[in-house]
Amino acid sequence: MVKGSRNLGRATPAILRSQSSKIMKRAAPASNIENIPRELLIEILSRIAKSSFTDIHNAKLSCKDFHEATEDTHVYRHMSLDDFPLVPWNPLSEKQQSFLTKCKECQNPEIMYRQGVLDYFTGKRPESALGHLQRASNANHIGALYVTCIILLFSGDDELKAAGVRSMAFLKKSNNVRRKLKEHRDKLKNMLMRMWVENPALRRRPVCCTRRDNHRRKRGWVDFDVEEDVHCEGCSADCEIRFLAGSLPQQ
Ligand SMILES: [Zn+2]
Repeated sequence: MVKGSRNLGRATPAILRSQSSKIMKRAAPASNIENIPRELLIEILSRIAKSSFTDIHNAKLSCKDFHEATEDTHVYRHMSLDDFPLVPWNPLSEKQQSFLTKCKECQNPEIMYRQGVLDYFTGKRPESALGHLQRASNANHIGALYVTCIILLFSGDDELKAAGVRSMAFLKKSNNVRRKLKEHRDKLKNMLMRMWVENPALRRRPVCCTRRDNHRRKRGWVDFDVEEDVHCEGCSADCEIRFLAGSLPQQ
């Protein structure tokens, strides 16, 4: 053994101790979290919740302050449900069930939107669909506003259909909303592939353009990229109807 190595061995822990105490002093974020105003912490966690359930779950496990803050109503209201299937093939665990119940209690717009879509498109509870979508729309859920317009277009009632045409046109006035609609159309299409679409109202294909020649639009015309050229609200709504009809599972 090299002379003095025993002493070196004894000295090392002391050096490590001093290094680790420096690291502890530098890191110390856990106690700093206590200094973040609770409202700000909840707002930050809500934004994380909006993008990923897994990230918020990990944050929850990381420390006591995070654990408490993630239980706030505001966080549950913004919780992403992307990790939860629309129609679970296997029964949900008690934990998953209580998580979704809390999302409902906290008026999470996404869970209300999902319920509205399921109620209407499966045809099981079409009468309650609009109520769920209305609550999600009140929280500015663009997808819920869009599906509400679709329901009005397929209502089979001329007045409601006209209201649907106007509402859809109003929705598309904003460039920002138009951009988001693309994402919501794709999401809806995806959801429709995962359920039994059996609402008989969807079997009739309404026509909204009131011009006899339908502005000479081609029958299968669906091109949202050139939609800015569409100045007829009826043609614009017809475009959505064709998109939806093309998104329905083949029956
Ligand atoms: Zn037209």
